[in-house]
Amino acid sequence: MTSTPLQGRTALVTGGASGIGLACVRALSAAGAKVHLVDIDPAAAAVAAEDSGAVAHVADLTDPAAVDGLPADVDILVNNAGIQHVAPIQDFPPERFAAIQQLMVTTPFLLMRRCLPAMYVRGWGRVINISSVHGVRASPHKAAYVAAKHGLEGLSKVAALEAAAHGVTSNCVDPGYVRTALVEGQVADQARARGIPEHAVVDEVFLGRTAIKRLIEPAEVAAVVRWLCSDEAGYLTGASIPLDGGWTAS
Ligand code: NAD
Repeated sequence: MTSTPLQGRTALVTGGASGIGLACVRALSAAGAKVHLVDIDPAAAAVAAEDSGAVAHVADLTDPAAVDGLPADVDILVNNAGIQHVAPIQDFPPERFAAIQQLMVTTPFLLMRRCLPAMYVRGWGRVINISSVHGVRASPHKAAYVAAKHGLEGLSKVAALEAAAHGVTSNCVDPGYVRTALVEGQVADQARARGIPEHAVVDEVFLGRTAIKRLIEPAEVAAVVRWLCSDEAGYLTGASIPLDGGWTAS
């Protein structure tokens, strides 16, 4: 089997300058794809592009107009960009709630709307939505994130049904806690919201519900994304792959 099975394919990865997105950029580039990464952070995007050979696009994906400037003619769309806000509902800022829905549900919809037609013309495509265990389970103090990820799961399934006849699959990847900046940034917020010390957050909050007592690495998530892009994964669609260390098995 060739080590560059995605040679000739083009991918678009949102939030590709850091964490899971960057790991996907690296994995898809290594598999031979031409990769476009989109990120709001210009410095990190430049470093990521230099490091991986990808093409960097700097854009704020909460702005619907920004989507219009991105490549539409791609074979693989990875909807990954995401943010978190931890607060009880009564204190949750409504503008923050709206921005999270925009970035994590509406932007994936706009990108599917933009990218699916070229995939349909070619009769091959992959839409991969980086959801979360929070796409199928709730946790307190994450109203916007849990609502957005549940919305993304629904959107992914509708895309799967519509795209199947065109050789295009749509799936969610649902990690538990991944060792990224997004998780590291939650430690102080979680400690404050739950009234527990910061050192207890990893053991009690992040790993309390998993059978495997470690965080998952970004490269482990990217390996599944890369596999979803293979022809061998062509019959898997409308699914949600739980990379959650057994969380949802309990
Ligand atoms: P991260 O913070 O390391 O990376 C997110 C990237 O998105 C950053 O490079 C950031 O600059 C970019 N971004 C943020 N807002 C943006 C905007 N408005 N426009 C364009 N780019 C923007 O986060 P991560 O942990 O790698 O998370 C990536 C995805 O994985 C998210 O959708 C997240 O919900 C999901 N996820 C993460 C975990 C985890 O534990 N880290 C678990 C499950 C799911």
